[in-house]
Order: sequence, then structure tokens, then C-alpha cells
Amino acid sequence: MYNNNPTLEDRGKTIDESKQGAAFFPEESAVLGTEGSRHFYIESYGCQMNFSDSEIVASILDGVGYKPTKNMEAADLILINTCSIREKAEYNVRQRLRVYNKVKDQKPGTLIGVLGCMAERLKEKFLQQEKLVDLVVGPDAYRDLPKLVASAEEGEKGLNVLLSREETYADINPLRLNSNGVTGFISIMRGCDNMCSFCVVPFTRGRERSRNAFTILAEATDLFDRGYKEVTLLGQNVDSYHWKNPENDGEVNFAQLLEMVAKVHPDLRVRFSTSHPKDITDEVIETIASFENICKYIHLPVQSGNSRILKLMNRTYDREWYMERVKRIYEIMPDCAISSDMISGFCTETEEEHQDTISMIDFAKYSMSYMFTYSERPGTLAARKYEDDIPREVKKRRLQEIIDRQAEVSMEHNKKDIGKTFKVLIEGDSKKSDQDWRGRNSQNKMIIFPKSENQKPGDYVFVKVNKATSATLIGEMEK
Ligand code: SF4
Repeated sequence: MYNNNPTLEDRGKTIDESKQGAAFFPEESAVLGTEGSRHFYIESYGCQMNFSDSEIVASILDGVGYKPTKNMEAADLILINTCSIREKAEYNVRQRLRVYNKVKDQKPGTLIGVLGCMAERLKEKFLQQEKLVDLVVGPDAYRDLPKLVASAEEGEKGLNVLLSREETYADINPLRLNSNGVTGFISIMRGCDNMCSFCVVPFTRGRERSRNAFTILAEATDLFDRGYKEVTLLGQNVDSYHWKNPENDGEVNFAQLLEMVAKVHPDLRVRFSTSHPKDITDEVIETIASFENICKYIHLPVQSGNSRILKLMNRTYDREWYMERVKRIYEIMPDCAISSDMISGFCTETEEEHQDTISMIDFAKYSMSYMFTYSERPGTLAARKYEDDIPREVKKRRLQEIIDRQAEVSMEHNKKDIGKTFKVLIEGDSKKSDQDWRGRNSQNKMIIFPKSENQKPGDYVFVKVNKATSATLIGEMEK
């Protein structure tokens, strides 16, 4: 959901890959309709990659005269950037389409477009199933949007779901949406070459490709120059980032990229998501440890704590490998926080194997986790090879056990922070009270503390923690 007006300098900027590290240049391009007269409204669902993609879409449309609006009824073009990771996610999309259709009934001529992973998974079937949808555009085809929108304005349905092996949108400067002006996403790669048997991403986002490192550096520098204080580097599996410079065969891996971005400025915090246990190297861990401004937080999805299930999931590591990586992270950075993803009730999972996931929470001492029941996805390896044989109520009971144990461990994790002082980046007002600030420490924990004079979002302050819940730390600013 888009909620604030873009600033002038956000509009129509591009990054020229051949001018590594060069300044940005506004570009003149074909305008649809008269300047400023057409508006688009966009909703984004799913992972951070999708939110980042919506900012690329916004920049492409802004470049051809379509201006963002947060008022759906005022829009000429309504877009939804979809997620396909779980059945529920797709159900939500269909619910939203019902709402858009009502707007279209009131204002015929309004265009409706479906973007993202569900568009890629269903392709032309989407246009057959949803008569009021005008555009279906996959994650690698957003450059084609202006042409497809122009044809749709003439009444022609638009479809482009071609996946690419090259596309990284590296030359497009995202138009920041929902921005607090303090933190921003930077997508560093697209697609995924892992074939986890439960996952649709390789089918909806295609093969892995890494973006030109110098365009990433230019985007981080530009954000810092515009007052942002934190960037999150995004990829399905950032640890396998690997860019080969076509000009001199130089190579940049993830550890080197982290170092390049960390050196933009000591006051620019660097986060990244998502890591893959099989690819997180000692070099990456040591690089995080050697820069104060690279945050001491790693999201390291385990999915299951049992080696037989990990094999069925095709995660390419086993329980022992994962535990060794966790041990290594804590050896090098004892104060690092680790979070995870876990799936309950994967095909043929026994009670003992479920207990291995529970005991992994105790071993890894996750600060928090994203936890789901297994949701069979059409076209995946698991859907083709394994029966989804764990009854729904067993999946849900196991999920609840994982959630309960994680809540206990998160509480312990946060209790240990009481009495400690952390450097916190102010992000904005607390959701509960505008008398309090909210911000996060390096470990990605949200801290709430009373305002005092002369601070603003984007400032770093030191906060002493005096209370904790399983989700939040509460404290006082140090004088
Ligand atoms: S690493 Fe596995 S779970 Fe993650 S996006 Fe790739 S295939 Fe999906």
C-alpha cells in the first residue's frame, strides 16, 4: 500500500551501468496521456523482493507520465504485486481483485494489472479466470509495462511472462514507496538456482543472476546522500551473489559486495536478506564482524531441524551442517542475532522429526522466526513426487508447538538485553504512542523509548533497555 508523496528528486532517475559509480541522469521518455494526468495505485504482497520490485515498477511508470496515488478510486491503473508462496497468499489476491472490480464497475476504463509471482505462475490462465483483469506481467517483464498499458488503454489485454537470464533492472532507480526516508531496500540479484522441493520461486522468478556491483554501490551512495541511514541488500539467496565484470573479468562475491557498501559511509547501516545455510561462508561472517555498520543480524532459514526431511526438501544441507554454521557465527560474533524460517508438517514428517525442529530452536537460540505449515504448491518437486500426507490438524498442532517454543526463546533472548545499552537508529513514531520513538538495534530488534528534545528519524541514539516482551525491547535514552 503506497502512503506518501514521492519527492521531486525521486522521479525518473536511472543508473547508467557503463558509467560505474557515476551520478544519475533524468531521462526524457514517451509520455502516456498528458503529463501528471494519469495515476496508478499499487499494492504489494509477499517478500521484500516484491516491495522492492513495486518501486522499480513505480519508477518505470513515473518515467512515462503515470503518477502514483494512494487513492484507489482516483487511479486510472490499479496494480497488485502478488505472492504465490502459499495457497493463502493467492486466495488473498483474488479477494483484492473483488475490491478492484467494484472500482472498475463505478469507473469503466480503469485498468487492472496483476504483477509478480502469481502472474508468472498462472500466466494467460489468469486472464481467462479473471475477466476484469487487463494486464498480467511477470517479475522479469516490467520494462514492457508502458507498451502493455498503452495497448490496454486501446482495449487490448496485455500479457508478458517471459523470464530472463539477464534482467536485473540495474539501470532503474526505484521510486521509493512507503518510505520513511531512513531505510531502503536494494535488490542485488534476482531469481534462485536452489530447487527446494516445496518452493515456487525458481518457477516464478527464474534463474539466479547477480546485478552489476557498481550500480548497487551507486544506489547505496545515492540513498545515503539523500539522508537514508540504512540499506537492506535483497536476494532470494544473497550468499551466492557473484558478479563478473564484463569489462575486466574482475569478480565480486557477497563478502566483497558487503565491504563495498559498508565503505560508503560509517553512518550507513547495512543489512541483507535472505541467507542460505549452504552458502554462508566464513569470509561473509568475518566481513560482517569487521565493520561496525554491517548489522549483527543474520536471517538463516532452516525450514526443518531433521536431516531426512531436509533431504526431501532438497535443502542441500543436513542438521549437522546447519548447526556448524550457527556455531561458527556465534564463535565469530557472540552478540549476533539469528532468525529463521520453519515449516511444520512437511510430507511424511514424523513426531520425532518434528521434535528435531523444536530442538533446533533451543540450539540456535533464534531471536525470532517466520513459521508456517507446509502448503503444497502446484508444479513444485514436492507436489509432483510426495503425497501431502500430514493431516491439517497435525500440521497446525505442530506449528503451534514451534510458535510456543520460539516465543519462549525470543523472550529469553530479549530478557538478556535488559540493562544493556544499544545504538539505535530512529525510524519514526512508536505505533502505540507518538510520545515514543521506535527504532532498531544492530540485532534487528525493535526498541521503543520516550522522545526527548532534538531528535528526528534518521538519528542514531543510545538506549538503555529496562523492559522486554518476546517481540519488543523498551528503554530509556542515555543522556
Ligand atoms: S532458496 Fe529455496 S526456499 Fe528460498 S527462494 Fe530459493 S528455492 Fe525457494
